Amino acid sequence: MSKIVIVGGGWGGVSAALCASNFDVEIVLLEKTDRLLGTGLVGGIMRNNGRYTAAEELIALGGGRLVELCDKNATHKDVSFPGHSHATLYNVIKVAQQIDGILREKNISIMYKSRAVKVNMEGSRLKGLVLDSGECIEGDVFVDATGTGGPMVNCRKYGHGCVMCVLRCPTFGGRSSITAKVGVKERPARNRDNSIGAMSGACELVPETIHPDLLDTLKKKGFVKIPLPKQLGLINLNRKVCQQYSRKEYSNNLILLDTGYVKMMASYLPLNILNSLPGLERAEYKDPYSGGVGNSIRFVERCPMDASLKVKGTENLYVAGEKAGLLVGHTEAMVTGALAGYNCVRHVNDLKPLTLPPSLALGDIILHAIQLQDSDIMNGTRLTFSGSMYFEKMKDKGLYTTDVDVIKSRVESTGLENIFTYLP
Ligand SMILES: Cc1cc2nc3c(=O)[nH]c(=O)nc-3n(C[C@H](O)[C@H](O)[C@H](O)COP(=O)(O)OP(=O)(O)OC[C@H]3O[C@@H](n4cnc5c(N)ncnc54)[C@H](O)[C@@H]3O)c2cc1C
Repeated sequence: MSKIVIVGGGWGGVSAALCASNFDVEIVLLEKTDRLLGTGLVGGIMRNNGRYTAAEELIALGGGRLVELCDKNATHKDVSFPGHSHATLYNVIKVAQQIDGILREKNISIMYKSRAVKVNMEGSRLKGLVLDSGECIEGDVFVDATGTGGPMVNCRKYGHGCVMCVLRCPTFGGRSSITAKVGVKERPARNRDNSIGAMSGACELVPETIHPDLLDTLKKKGFVKIPLPKQLGLINLNRKVCQQYSRKEYSNNLILLDTGYVKMMASYLPLNILNSLPGLERAEYKDPYSGGVGNSIRFVERCPMDASLKVKGTENLYVAGEKAGLLVGHTEAMVTGALAGYNCVRHVNDLKPLTLPPSLALGDIILHAIQLQDSDIMNGTRLTFSGSMYFEKMKDKGLYTTDVDVIKSRVESTGLENIFTYLP
């Protein structure tokens, strides 16, 4: 049986594994930590703005299992908060508890505490990966879903040092890019001021440390907005990963969301300032643990790829998740994961890889990323369905809609309905 090896158990890698598991292949998922979902463990927002359209397209293409899992574990649906409409907030804790079981049911072999650190090549063909332990994992085709967070050296160089985020590099070792290991040069993602890297844009607070009245309002409404003292404003907004949060409402207010934890929509806030705000007098950080000082650094490199998500210059390596074109978000990682996983299956069956057409938002965003990948216009830009440059493009092209029937018939008209569940 052909073997697919996926490196990285964030939303990108999980989605690749799940999509490939629709077929008769052996799947190994390597994750360096002891938990799945990566930065998804501190997420919680789905279906906001154009992500609604993207989620429904993915479902219509047959790759929507993870979207449906988040929907099923929603704390709130149809929530609007500054810059975002019709968001679903999912319970991060509940989703994280189920994900391992869902993959195991599909016979996916999950190897925790397994960090791939070296590659064995035969020309441009990747033959196998060597783990920290020295064990060698061979495969026919591979997916690099290692994300862009960290490693610590980047958090020190471009941020405020290791802030003890969910990726826990000091314990499990830092991110190690398979694309870089096979010798493909990854491009840095530069900000508008030409600096490199961006600081993640949200923290989690421990719910029990929030004043019960504030927590009660949060549980009822899904979000609360706490005005910040005038002289304060939030720090470093322009360096935030998600540009849709670089707006006035976010510098004048602290926005909190109910995701099982309390999600604070700011890169960081000194603890004494956080504790000076009403209802947050005893608030403590859950993630990053040093959220009073900074946040993780992401987007230092991005992976050169083609429209099928094959890594340029390689024979049998695909890319999924955030490092693909710098497509940011859970939905985006689920999309690239599904396509990469599916194309691995086509690869081992000697079929031409699938590319998604620009008449779908999912195809259009990938093509958009490819057009920008060698260009300086990419500077400071991360692509997401939920805001910034790409959401504007989506609206201009008439791709954004929340009408599920329209989305379904759009997918039907491409002839790709449920494509992720069968081979041609
Ligand atoms: C604080 C924060 C909040 C966010 N909130 C949201 C949100 O609410 N909604 C949303 O849509 N998006 C959100 N995002 C963005 C979103 O989480 C990411 O864009 C997306 O989940 C990235 O998934 P990924 O699989 O590409 O990478 P990651 O989540 O980074 O996963 C990569 C995985 O690979 C593992 N790994 C790395 N190197 C190796 C190796 N060599 N061997 C084995 N394993 C390795 C890592 O341990 C990690 O588990 C948030 C991001 C952050 C940081």
